[in-house]
Amino acid sequence: MSSTPGKFIRPLVQQLHPYVPGEQPKISGLIKLNTNENPYPPSARVLEAIKAATDARLRLYPNPTSQLLREKLAAFHKVAPENIFVSNGSDEALALAVRVFVEPVETATNPSRGTVQYFTPSYSLYPVLAEIHGARQNPVPLAEEFQLPTVKELRNGGGWDFDAALTLVTTPNAPTGTGYEVEALATLCKAQRGIVLLDEAYVDFARQNALELATRYSNVLVARTFSKAYSLCFLRVGYCVGHPDLIQALDKIRDSYNVNGLGQVAALTTLSDLKYYRTNFKRIISTRHHVTQELRGLGFEVFPSETNFILVRPPLAPAKEWLLQLREKKLLVRWFGHSGMEDYLRITIGSEEEMEIFLDRTKSILKGFQQAT
Ligand SMILES: *Cc1c(COP(=O)(O)O)cnc(C)c1O
Repeated sequence: MSSTPGKFIRPLVQQLHPYVPGEQPKISGLIKLNTNENPYPPSARVLEAIKAATDARLRLYPNPTSQLLREKLAAFHKVAPENIFVSNGSDEALALAVRVFVEPVETATNPSRGTVQYFTPSYSLYPVLAEIHGARQNPVPLAEEFQLPTVKELRNGGGWDFDAALTLVTTPNAPTGTGYEVEALATLCKAQRGIVLLDEAYVDFARQNALELATRYSNVLVARTFSKAYSLCFLRVGYCVGHPDLIQALDKIRDSYNVNGLGQVAALTTLSDLKYYRTNFKRIISTRHHVTQELRGLGFEVFPSETNFILVRPPLAPAKEWLLQLREKKLLVRWFGHSGMEDYLRITIGSEEEMEIFLDRTKSILKGFQQAT
């Protein structure tokens, strides 16, 4: 037997740069503003439904196609169940889309067929999914102030591929928070000759959504999740809306029981209790406005956000120094120490109380920096 089993691992996997999720530390009293989780719990009815389903039936397999949830989502979005694919978090839908639509570089008949395309910065999982699949990555920078480039701008250079097998667009964008106009997205979808997946993980905090594009264009998929807006990160439920042929293809290659039963129950009940969640969206949006104004008053550059987080450039000290000082004061935010994002922090919008504490402690850190200069 060999004592170096690492040699059995495929070179692609040996060299892989895996996705780095935000930390989930167990520090008491920590205010966690680093992974865009919802500060408010699932509704009482959803918690009851999960508890009621937690009995001897846990020994049974869940419905393999999440059929009831599919039907309820179809009614909610005024589409057919055949237009819906339910996934183990929307991350699974993204991973399956790469496998369904993109050829690994070695078997691609031309480079575009083997290309996963996305804007930078956007969701940092996309390059990892491409790498895992052995696909070509085509990252293209966003326009000034993280705006969506127009099709004309994309045609005028910068390496955009209108034939890319799969284009992934985070909308509204993460980690910038930028909202994109539906008609701008429509123009882009129409110009693409491959699949466009609109990743709407944060859309409930935005002014517009692009769901209609999933039925207007047969090359468009819209991905949604129960994680962020519906407080169900723990249970992993997401879904995709699109043309039945695309949905069927995703369905073909998923795990037999890809969505856990408690997740199906929780998501189904969530859709019967939307009023509770809509109230929370409004609270988070109003807290976001308040925090944005306060931070601007303190000298932070704050990008306009249509999500449940804000991207900021802090004053007087490097973002990394701010990260450390906030952490000392039990405030955890996200810093991306790479790809041109070194000067920024991403701050999840917590509850009103959490954000008041955040603002207080931020002011005291700022004072320290002012005295040091
Ligand atoms: C959080 C997130 C997802 C994934 O959410 P799931 O928990 O897997 O449903 C997808 N896209 C973006 C942009 C996200 O921020």
